[in-house]
Amino acid sequence: MFERVLVGGDVVTEQGVQALDIALRDGKIAALVPRGTHIEAAETVDLAGMVVLPGIVDTHSHLGSGDDRTAEGQDRSFSVDTKDAAIGGVTTIATTHVLGRDPLHEMVARAIDSGQGRSWVDFKINSVITTYAHIEQIPKAAALGSKSFKMYCGYCFEQAEKMGMRKEGMPPDMFYMAAEKLVELDGWGHMMIHAEEPHVRRMLAERYKAKGEEGLLCWADHSRDWSESVQVYLYGVIAKELGVPMQVVHTSRGHTVDLIKRLQAEGYPIYSETLVSYLGTTAHDLEARGLRFQGKIQPPIRYQSDQDRLWKGVQDGTVTTLGTDTIPYTSKYKTSKPFWDARPGLNIQWIDSLPLLYTHGIVEGRISLETLAEVSSTNPAKMWGMYPQKGCIAQGSDADLVVVDPRLEADLGLARMRGDADYSIWEGRKAKGMPVKTYLRGVLVAEDGEVVGQAGGRYLG
Ligand SMILES: [Zn+2]
Repeated sequence: MFERVLVGGDVVTEQGVQALDIALRDGKIAALVPRGTHIEAAETVDLAGMVVLPGIVDTHSHLGSGDDRTAEGQDRSFSVDTKDAAIGGVTTIATTHVLGRDPLHEMVARAIDSGQGRSWVDFKINSVITTYAHIEQIPKAAALGSKSFKMYCGYCFEQAEKMGMRKEGMPPDMFYMAAEKLVELDGWGHMMIHAEEPHVRRMLAERYKAKGEEGLLCWADHSRDWSESVQVYLYGVIAKELGVPMQVVHTSRGHTVDLIKRLQAEGYPIYSETLVSYLGTTAHDLEARGLRFQGKIQPPIRYQSDQDRLWKGVQDGTVTTLGTDTIPYTSKYKTSKPFWDARPGLNIQWIDSLPLLYTHGIVEGRISLETLAEVSSTNPAKMWGMYPQKGCIAQGSDADLVVVDPRLEADLGLARMRGDADYSIWEGRKAKGMPVKTYLRGVLVAEDGEVVGQAGGRYLG
């Protein structure tokens, strides 16, 4: 006897899209059987005409870096903003902690505490290294289950200092020493870099400012087409020498995809993430829709040619994971300062990400359902050491599932959001293929755009 059986859906497994019924028990996928097989269950859920994907695993968010960059702000963000994740079909997130110079393991422990009992989805914590002392503390953070270490290599001078780094930012020696520490760990994890050469970028920003020019086209232009690539190579050779996996977060440029493809072919342990926002919009589109401040993120949202190359990278496997780079900002941080001084970063992206990927990826024929599941769930789960508990629809895996109605069209934007967000760069956009049910470990946590029951997310140590 099973607790629940989901019948009639097209189920996206690693073996392909299959006509399967899914039996759930004790939070797990207890059985996958051919559609129509008789199963005894307390509840039968009819999913005829629906697509069932593994719950989205979003490994890129910053719950400690929103409007309120304190532990209390992080608490609130877990309890309120992660509702958007559940509704959007995201069942696991990885988030950075509140940034600072405190001991790394203490910041990680506080972030775990923030999420426990508050998060609507399961979660992991990404450690952010900003000091030499943090490098020494890597084993202590790893002992808490945080084995993904982020370095903001794309910042120097005042930008770096604002984030708790020295004015040099993250020089290669810091990356080298951190990677050495990782190799010593039991079942070691990976490094993540924000690659974006900071010195030329800073000089060009000053020039634009002096000329009185602003806007998202200048913003995209000041971070040159090679700005990510030079750092991907610089830190990538170190990663290769030490044999440490390196995730290039938010890959935004075609130039970068080309380089990563070459390096991967030469055996470099380099993985690439791109953002849903890079795949869904461009600097020109945002300017045309009057979203100059709201669309200012770093690295910048670029041009159509970059977007096309990123989609090709998703198709051919160069881009290995998709993320949202969710930061819980409200608009006061976007419009209270002049353009060049306004804080970069999008707001909470979870609710509209799957509809955007479904529309531009599946409906418009760019990728298959299998590829969508791979880059948005399976690959991130593997990289973060959670597979096959997470990231796939298979017998014995956690019953983390998102049910998509492929015919349902809806308006994206603020009206759908249930967290603290007060703007959306997707306002006025429509999507086809909406998440209608989300199951977290076998329990329905969201349905038809609302959360159901209570927050039951767990820390994945
Ligand atoms: Zn980020």
